[in-house]
Amino acid sequence: MSKTIGTPRITVLAARRAQLEAERDHLLDQAGVSLDELVDVDPEDPTRGRDAVSASLSALTRTTLAEVTAALARIDADTYGRCEGCGTSIPDERLEIMPAAALCVACQQRSE
Ligand SMILES: [Zn+2]
Repeated sequence: MSKTIGTPRITVLAARRAQLEAERDHLLDQAGVSLDELVDVDPEDPTRGRDAVSASLSALTRTTLAEVTAALARIDADTYGRCEGCGTSIPDERLEIMPAAALCVACQQRSE
């Protein structure tokens, strides 16, 4: 077994995933929507199920939920923690506070 400095990435990712899933569940819980409803897309009309659920969510909840879902997808795709603007690694201290962050501080400030 090789020695690693600091917390192994896999442990960090598991912690971030848990944070994101907790945030997602909290948002869904507040909105009174189940995860099944959110992912249950009508095969006849792929946008219908999602849209029906989306309509019952506030704009802020929808935005936050989209960010959280995208971050979870990045963990699965192993691109989590990489800035979508410039491609550099987002510092873990930032991700610890904002696990759904898709941009580094510099890109975030540029986009505001
Ligand atoms: Zn950046």
